[in-house]
Amino acid sequence: MTGRLYVCATPIGNLEDVSLRLLRVLREVDAIAAEDTRRTQKLLNHHGIRAKLVSYHDANERAQTRHLIERIKRGDRIALVSDSGTPSISDPGYLLVTACIAANLPVETVPGPSAVVAALVVSGLPTARFSFEGFLSKKGGERSRRLEKLRDDDRTLIFYEAPGRVRGTLETIWSVLGNRRVAVARELTKIHEEVIRGSVSEVLAQIEEEDVRGEAVILVEGAAAVPDLPTAVEAARGLVAGGLPKGKAAAKAAAQHGVARREIYDRLLED
Ligand code: SAM
Repeated sequence: MTGRLYVCATPIGNLEDVSLRLLRVLREVDAIAAEDTRRTQKLLNHHGIRAKLVSYHDANERAQTRHLIERIKRGDRIALVSDSGTPSISDPGYLLVTACIAANLPVETVPGPSAVVAALVVSGLPTARFSFEGFLSKKGGERSRRLEKLRDDDRTLIFYEAPGRVRGTLETIWSVLGNRRVAVARELTKIHEEVIRGSVSEVLAQIEEEDVRGEAVILVEGAAAVPDLPTAVEAARGLVAGGLPKGKAAAKAAAQHGVARREIYDRLLED
């Protein structure tokens, strides 16, 4: 039997967010390489899976990559999982995947949750094109320089942020990118799931006293350079479905997407 690496996405909160295939792969592999073995053990216990865990994290990544490559060469099937979501997305994994490719060993994806997509689809910001930026640097100068490079980008911008740092990051976003529409998606799939939407100043006002609790993704509207009629019409249809009269929906979507109100309104009348 040929060895292979399975890159497995696991829940970002709710332990039920698993696929049948994920559960089968985790059950069948020879070992699971996990960023945090205790956390992965909880997932396995929840689903009644007994498996052998080996640790694979930032600090032992290089040595463990060599070891796992040897095992896969000998025919072992290894599942790679991270603390939450998809490995290699702001998590360990890239090194092991590239090492497998270099050694001509098969790599399979077992897709599932990732906070970036989970947050995007509930943000209310355009989803057609987006740029995932991972974590901004903790250093003020580097953060601002990175944001300045993104100033003219018309895609939705998505940032991961550590608990307790959302406020500061929103303030930097305001000062470099202006008072754009943003969404802060926190604790997704968990009991306290919440999406705070509005301009940067509105969102900051809402989280005035304390910083956002728990894990959060910050999404920022792209530079409003390119008017996008289909997206604007879709947004207006959503507003109508939510109860707004067509005229008001067209006006709101026109302001948000830089498209003439009349063009949107005419499309709404055709529905
Ligand atoms: N590999 C993961 C993925 O695919 O999403 C990301 C891991 S990264 C170390 C952790 C960051 O992801 C958090 O700081 C937060 O920005 C985001 N995140 C993870 N889970 C989340 C959740 N349930 N709700 C909101 N953001 C989350």
